[in-house]
Amino acid sequence: MTRAAAGDGAVLAELDDRLTALDETLTGLGKALVAEIEERTAALDALAERVGQAEAAAGQLAAWAETATPQQWQELTGWVDWLVTTYELVGDRRVAPCWPSHPGVVEELAALRGAWIVVTAKQPPGDAMVQWHESLHRLLPRVTTVLRGCKDTHSRGSIPRCHDPAAVPQASR
Ligand SMILES: [Zn+2]
Repeated sequence: MTRAAAGDGAVLAELDDRLTALDETLTGLGKALVAEIEERTAALDALAERVGQAEAAAGQLAAWAETATPQQWQELTGWVDWLVTTYELVGDRRVAPCWPSHPGVVEELAALRGAWIVVTAKQPPGDAMVQWHESLHRLLPRVTTVLRGCKDTHSRGSIPRCHDPAAVPQASR
């Protein structure tokens, strides 16, 4: 073998080694890429599922009472007790204790409380509290009309300043 031929052999061997290394690198990169694609595909699938669930949930009408926890019922009834006492809702403006048994009234009062929470938060905008009172006085006739028309047999205590605990659904989630 000539010196030149021996040199060529060494170069070829080195090139072969480099090709092998390159091949291993590419194989490794390919596997990593496949793993990455699989991971991202799974993440996209999960996201699509969540979007689907959110769309389904958004398409369903859910009344406050349908999703309220016992704790939220307690907060609402406590707040209505406070409302009745504070604004002296007696006589024509009486909120009958059976109000938790009237779904529409529950929704109105829950909405009113939601608005109250917002406007009593720190630094409410401008006349927000005045507007809330306007809402209160617009709502009261609707509530009292429904409750006055109540022909149900559920408890009607003579004390207007409380809610009837027996009227609160306990089976809420
Ligand atoms: Zn009633």
